[in-house]
Amino acid sequence: MFAGFLEYSIPQRARKKGLLELELHNLRDYSANRYKSVDDYPYGGGAGMVMSIEPIDRCISALKAERPYDEVIFTSPDARVLDQPMANGLSMCKNIIILCGHYKGVDERVREHLVTMEISIGDYVLSGGELAAAVIADAVIRLVPGVLGDETSALSDSFQDGLLSPPVYTRPPEYKGWKVPDVLLGGNDRLKAEWRYEKAVERTRERRPSLLEGQDASRQ
Ligand code: SAH
Repeated sequence: MFAGFLEYSIPQRARKKGLLELELHNLRDYSANRYKSVDDYPYGGGAGMVMSIEPIDRCISALKAERPYDEVIFTSPDARVLDQPMANGLSMCKNIIILCGHYKGVDERVREHLVTMEISIGDYVLSGGELAAAVIADAVIRLVPGVLGDETSALSDSFQDGLLSPPVYTRPPEYKGWKVPDVLLGGNDRLKAEWRYEKAVERTRERRPSLLEGQDASRQ
C-alpha cells in the first residue's frame, strides 16, 4: 500500500535528497508464534479481531534500541484530527514511529503504555491505518526544510497563516472568454499582494469562517 506513495513525487524527492528515511516494518516479523499471527479474539466477545500487544511491543522496542524516537503515533479514528499545526510540529521531529491498526484496532494496553500520540485523519473509518499513515507522512514530509524546492510554497499553502489560499491562475490570460483577473496580469506587485490577501480572507470567510475566529482570538 505504500509503494506508490514512496516511489513518486515529494516523498521520493525527499529520500533522494537524503532528507528523509522511511522504513516499513511488518509486525508479523515480530510475532512470537509459529503462525506469525498478530491478532486474536477479543476478550468479552464481539465481532472482529484485535491486534495483540506482544508483536507491537517487540517491534517498537527493537526500533527504540537503535535510535531515540520523538513520538510513537497510533492512527485511530477516535483521536484528534490531523491539522496543519500538528503537521508543523511533527516536521520538527527527528524520528517518528507510526503504528497502523487493522481489524477492530489494537489491544488498549498498546494505547495506554506504548503510544505517545494518536492521530485521526478524519471522521470516517478506514479498514487499516496505512492510508492514514501515508497521509500523515505526506503532510509532514513536505514541511521538512529543503524538501520543497521553493520553501515559500509550503508557507503560502492554506492553513499556514490561518487563511485558505487565494485562487491561482496560469496561462493563457483568456480561455473561452474566461479571464484571469486584470490585477494579476499587471506589473504592480503591491496590488497583486493586496489582491491575494483580500481573496484569501474572502475565501476563508465564505468557506471556513471558524479559521478567522481562531486567528482573531490569537491576535488579541
Ligand atoms: N473499531 C475501530 C476502527 C478500526 S479501523 C473504531 O471504531 O474506532 C482499523 C484501523 O484503521 C484503526 O485501528 C486505525 O489504525 C485505522 N483507521 C481507521 N480509520 C482511521 C482514521 N479516520 N484515521 C486514522 N486511522 C484510521
